[in-house]
Amino acid sequence: MSGTGKRVLGFLVARPLIAIAIAAVVVGVLLLQTRSDKTPVTHRTVHVTLTDAQQSQLGNQNYTKTLRQNRANIVSSGPEYAEVQRVAKRIEAVAAHDKPDFVWKVTLLRKNVANAYCLPGGKIVVYTGILPIAQNDAGLATVLGHEVAHATAEHVAERIEREHLTAVAAAIIAGGVAFTPAQFIRVQALIDAGASLPFSRSQESEADHIGLVYMAKAGYDPHQALAFWKRMLRASKGKEPPEFLSDHPSDAHRVERVQGWLPEAERAYKPQT
Ligand SMILES: [Zn+2]
Repeated sequence: MSGTGKRVLGFLVARPLIAIAIAAVVVGVLLLQTRSDKTPVTHRTVHVTLTDAQQSQLGNQNYTKTLRQNRANIVSSGPEYAEVQRVAKRIEAVAAHDKPDFVWKVTLLRKNVANAYCLPGGKIVVYTGILPIAQNDAGLATVLGHEVAHATAEHVAERIEREHLTAVAAAIIAGGVAFTPAQFIRVQALIDAGASLPFSRSQESEADHIGLVYMAKAGYDPHQALAFWKRMLRASKGKEPPEFLSDHPSDAHRVERVQGWLPEAERAYKPQT
């Protein structure tokens, strides 16, 4: 290869990194120090760089795309819609104490998939396929409490940080700047949270714990959460385990751990009058 060719090749190889660096500087991420946040309920220290506003921006981009792609499946009336709105409203009111800058919103999609997720920044997607396993408002509150906990505990931002992808996330926030496709896909998968890249087991366990306290604070009997996780466990032994479980890995001890947190959740329980 000629010297010029090598230089061109070298430039092309280096360019994504330069683009990331430029985008990061534009957004100011590299100038920011990693900050320490405390997770709600579990009071664990998490190290993140992305601000609440940047997390919201990442989540909102993904949410807009999801709604555009699934426009025909959006459920906007009927008893299932009413249930999801009713339960989400109460869970969101509790979570808002921990993340006052997040803008909460839930969308129900008609899809025979037993799953749900909450994006960074507070946008929630629920599939109708999870409703039969949720069975009732308290069961759905268990699901939503768990999902919303991933957002308030900043689990996506934490993973972006741990995998040194903050600059790539910044480039996505800045928009229209080139970055290496593999890293882009990785960040997108992290943001999809529940779509293709599961959280770590410790994050899952933490979401169970926070979610349990959230649903109790929202006025749902925490014993119903235990009943829900037992239903999930039974469903996992069926021919087609719910997708929720492949996206939210846990182990056989999940039910026991939830049982262990029950006294704390009972203290937080505020029955609705
Ligand atoms: Zn989860």
